[in-house]
Amino acid sequence: TEPLLQVDSLKTYYKTKTGNVKAVDSVSLFVDRAKILGVAGESGCGKSTLVTTIFRVLPRNAQIVEGEVKFKGQEILKMDLKTFRKNIVWRDIAYIPQASMDVLDPVYKIKDQMIETILAHEDVSKAEATERIYKALESVGVPPEKADMFPHELSGGQRQRVVIAMALLLNPSMVVSDEATTALDVITQAKVLKIMKDLQESRKFSMMFVTHDLALLANISDSILIMYAGKVVEFGDVEKLFRNPLHPYTKALVDAIPDLRLRKKKKLVSIPGYPPDLENPPKGCRFAPRCPIAMPICSQKEPPLTRIEGFHYVACHAVTKQ
Ligand code: ATP
Ligand code: MG
Repeated sequence: TEPLLQVDSLKTYYKTKTGNVKAVDSVSLFVDRAKILGVAGESGCGKSTLVTTIFRVLPRNAQIVEGEVKFKGQEILKMDLKTFRKNIVWRDIAYIPQASMDVLDPVYKIKDQMIETILAHEDVSKAEATERIYKALESVGVPPEKADMFPHELSGGQRQRVVIAMALLLNPSMVVSDEATTALDVITQAKVLKIMKDLQESRKFSMMFVTHDLALLANISDSILIMYAGKVVEFGDVEKLFRNPLHPYTKALVDAIPDLRLRKKKKLVSIPGYPPDLENPPKGCRFAPRCPIAMPICSQKEPPLTRIEGFHYVACHAVTKQ
């Protein structure tokens, strides 16, 4: 059966005074129904650009150069924008952005904006909508009296829970979360993650969970996509990827996870150097300048994303030549 969300050879560039920032450069992925895809990669690798492209909320200087995004088989990048916003966003695919204040309007009470979200998309009475929002807040552990408050009167953790409740108000089949828990302390982060995972299991929606912290993804994801400098370097089943990371960049990320490292009695080795400038990325493999096992071909030819075994893809000459 066809995946719920499918992205094909997507390229999104930002125009600047000096050239094009190739933030998402030929990214392909899919998310199956009722599954969680974790997307990881260090700061600046293009994760949020991927998400904002899908939701069509890119800044003015961004341009979708190439590619397709299909949701339930429908190409959403070319859909009429009004129709997309009215019929698809929130209703069927919801968005928890990197900053919760991007969703919450500071001048409205929590209650009012949640009710408004329902009324804007569904033909129900205000009383029914009100009842639903209290249930939604309860499901994410937000006390009912918070509904009468303004966003700034809540803690960061409570605000994040409210945004999750809002994302689920219309029973979407997919939720995309971009660093939804990053700003929270570790305890609150663990609680919010558990809420999301429990809701996902009971309501069976799909999720794309974006974070720079690969360790977070181990317990919640079904599959993992690793991005580096605008490219997909590895994509596969969560267990395969953690047990047998193939790309040297993924290996370094996995080795940096304290639990896994201590279990194998490894020292923390950080990758020297920085991610490349996305206006002038290196020729060949973008990771080659930092790669401990780079070969001459790596700085000449771009390694294609290649299936190795089952659901496990990697873009690395060193792996595919074997
Ligand atoms: P983080 O983990 O820090 O959130 P990210 O992986 O989400 O990072 P993006 O925000 O997608 O990364 O940025 C990808 C690249 O695009 C970066 O090099 C960034 O500097 C650049 N970029 C982002 N927005 C713009 C913009 N409006 N104009 C020009 N360049 C931009
Ligand atoms: Mg981001």
